[in-house]
Amino acid sequence: MLQIVKYPHPTLRHKSKPLRRVDGEVKEIVDEMFDLMYRQNGVGLAANQVDLPYRLFIVNIEADPQKGEGVVFINPVISRRSGTIEAEEGCLSFPEIYAPVKRSDKIVISAYNLAGKEVDYRLDGFFARAVQHEYDHLDGILFIDRLSPSAMLSVKQELTDQELEFQGSRERGAIPADPQIAARLAELESLRT
Ligand SMILES: [Zn+2]
Repeated sequence: MLQIVKYPHPTLRHKSKPLRRVDGEVKEIVDEMFDLMYRQNGVGLAANQVDLPYRLFIVNIEADPQKGEGVVFINPVISRRSGTIEAEEGCLSFPEIYAPVKRSDKIVISAYNLAGKEVDYRLDGFFARAVQHEYDHLDGILFIDRLSPSAMLSVKQELTDQELEFQGSRERGAIPADPQIAARLAELESLRT
């Protein structure tokens, strides 16, 4: 059973490694990730956000399986970026926080799909933004890292509240200690990356 981890969970800062292959277990993980994302009305979800150290994320910019297309990006590489555009973003690991982030306007990204086939995507607009946000997750980069000083100031209190909530969960034993989390990630990596 996968669960979405919230800031400041350490797996969100983990730089993930490419998966060695796309097999049945990867397909099950992706199915579960789509279920979680749609239940939270999210437009994107990265493996780090479900406490897995794999270079994999999903996006559906309609946040609805009946409307948009759910796209899986495995071992993605952004090869081209152009233009800059600023717009508001949120993140399922920061449930209450929205803030403006500058992103490339257009990108070219290649990634493997669930059939194990490499596909090139030329993206712009909100789709390109969502993909760049998720891509950052795979390197342990969070959207709060890209805020202007004034935007950062405006979300500071919510961040502190989330940090306190995380500490509380940890004290209740709901979240393992850092060394245990690191050991689990290393074990998963040794099996699949
Ligand atoms: Zn996010």
